[in-house]
Amino acid sequence: MNIHRLKDTIINRIAAGEVVERPASVVKELVENAIDAGADRIEITTAGGGKNLIRVHDNGSGIAANELELAVSRHCTSKMADNIHDIRSLGFRGEALPSIASVAHLRLASRAGESTAGAEITVAGGRRAPVRPAAIQSGTVVEVRDLFYATPARLKFLKSDQAEAAAISDNVKRLAIAFPHIRFSLSGTERLIIDLPAAPLFAAAAQAAAKPEAEPGNEEDIARAQAYHSRLIQILGRDFAENSVGLNARRENVHIFGFIGIPSYHRGNALHQFAYVNGRPVRDKIISAALRAAYADMLPAGRHAVAALFLQLDPAHVDVNVHPAKADVRFRDAGLIRGLIIGAIRQVLEQAGARPATTAAAALIKAAEANRQAGNKTAYQAYEAAYYRDRQSETAPFIKAGNKAPVAFAAASGAYPAGRGRITGFAEDPAPWHETEDEIVPAPAAPLLTDNKASAPALPGMWPQPFPPAADFRLPEDNQDEAEADEQHAAMAQFPLGAAKAQIHQNYIIAQTENSLIIVDQHAAHERLVYEALKQALYAEPLASQMLLIPEIIELPPEDIARLLSHAEFLQKFGLVFEPFGNHALAVRETPALLGQINVQKLMRDLADEAAEHDTAGGLKDRLDYVAATMACHGSVRSGRRLKPQEMNALLRQMEQVPQSGTCNHGRPTFIELKLTDIEKLFARR
Ligand code: ADP
Ligand code: MG
Repeated sequence: MNIHRLKDTIINRIAAGEVVERPASVVKELVENAIDAGADRIEITTAGGGKNLIRVHDNGSGIAANELELAVSRHCTSKMADNIHDIRSLGFRGEALPSIASVAHLRLASRAGESTAGAEITVAGGRRAPVRPAAIQSGTVVEVRDLFYATPARLKFLKSDQAEAAAISDNVKRLAIAFPHIRFSLSGTERLIIDLPAAPLFAAAAQAAAKPEAEPGNEEDIARAQAYHSRLIQILGRDFAENSVGLNARRENVHIFGFIGIPSYHRGNALHQFAYVNGRPVRDKIISAALRAAYADMLPAGRHAVAALFLQLDPAHVDVNVHPAKADVRFRDAGLIRGLIIGAIRQVLEQAGARPATTAAAALIKAAEANRQAGNKTAYQAYEAAYYRDRQSETAPFIKAGNKAPVAFAAASGAYPAGRGRITGFAEDPAPWHETEDEIVPAPAAPLLTDNKASAPALPGMWPQPFPPAADFRLPEDNQDEAEADEQHAAMAQFPLGAAKAQIHQNYIIAQTENSLIIVDQHAAHERLVYEALKQALYAEPLASQMLLIPEIIELPPEDIARLLSHAEFLQKFGLVFEPFGNHALAVRETPALLGQINVQKLMRDLADEAAEHDTAGGLKDRLDYVAATMACHGSVRSGRRLKPQEMNALLRQMEQVPQSGTCNHGRPTFIELKLTDIEKLFARR
């Protein structure tokens, strides 16, 4: 289609405003143009974080020499005729090239498919030079140099070259996910290199069709899904393949498909959530809120799911003309979209074996009943059977351990496994829950709270202790007579969470109250306590830090280093002290005392993730809770840590003091309680 000027009536209805905020937005506009031009090869080169140079070369349809001037004129586009409610291309406003040309040096060289020679036009500060011949084989090259050269005030607002380069690479990845058949490459002086070969769409289609397991009639869907999946793996890594499941659902002409991480595969920020509406990358509140809701009771506090969701709906039902950067959309029926996303994710996760632990007690009781009926089944098998009967789910075949997952694709609303299907979940756990003899740690009847106090640093209020090694621990027989022990034990049983009796599987504390049995997930519980304490500390004085004997050197990508350094002062308030170490590393000197022994490497990486996400949205400071959550996760007693009896009891007492600790740890329960009456039911005593 030819480039023409939009009608005034349409111009007036287009969301007005700046499209060029930073180098990454220039890259986004240019790459979108290349995609709209039908390119299947797009090469991006940058220098100085895109401030000095951005070059985008594509092999698309090109622009005829006599249209070059129009291409750089305002409101001129080849993409939209006269219906702003039916937009099927990424661009539609005819604003990008002229806007860029008004704040930078622009060179546009192109050769349309049918032309025998190429031509170019240059514009500097809005002034156009005449069109002249150019040596170009095919497609289009757009070069943008010295962005904001005439507006030093704007330049000042840009971040470091590394940070701008990182934003560029984020934008390229985001677009690349939506167009897996296009080969993208990005190179630049910041040594950020991306090379994403085209996913073999057609080969995959042929392959899929030949597979006997494939559902008939869905070859195209499968091929498409595989193409997207392989692009996601290029970007997110092999991990993602092993820890994700496919999703495919439809409701009232809205189609959603994509890939979502299983709940145990979570990240420190939401940067790994990608959403697309009719192929357009969007950052939409409805979609991200729906994602959060869908995973609400399955993720630990402050962690985020990984997901790529593609929504397909009638363009008339979604307004993309909300913001000049076109990343915002408005759905005509937001409720439908939200319901569809939450429903589809929940269903798929359930099939994948991820179950909220809240149903554990009920399922256990059902299992026992089933066990009695089934006679010779193991309790575990019965548990599993009861669980599935409860859900009326016949869709569990691919979640069994070691089961090679067939690529079955349930078209209407089902799920297909991504990758080779290592899906972690209860059902896969090979260890039945009741075989624990060798792991039981005997607990003495008496709490040794006073000893614990002495060995832990004196912290204000109800600090969770970082569990110092209890070297002075002795079994009660050594220093107590039996009567005394019994007495103390009885006293303990009156606490809501009772007296700790044992630790099993190195993560679950079994405690006894007067009328129930308590099972505590020690990791979840402690994480919650540390989190609450960290949050409190922020509103008081800086937290105590502990000096590392030898500073820990952490190598990080330059953009992460820049981000972390910009928050160094703030993080010091938490007791985390670090400084630059050469160009590619940070030296961490002090860590928050509260966290005890931690993996500093991993903490810093998670904080960098955190900073990356909140960089633009008002800064990390507004996200104290997130920082606290990230740190809490690191400072918590990991499952697998054997606790001394007094440590267990101390944890129970702390949990009782922090109201949030028991009921809900951002969804996951930290403990479950089996009333004596429930237990009696289990043994058919009632
Ligand atoms: P829009 O994309 O909204 O139409 P732009 O200012 O980005 O506005 O581009 C103006 C026009 O220039 C486009 O409509 C298109 O016809 C042409 N154009 C821009 N970039 C390319 C490209 N890489 N290949 C082919 N045509 C292009
Ligand atoms: Mg455009």
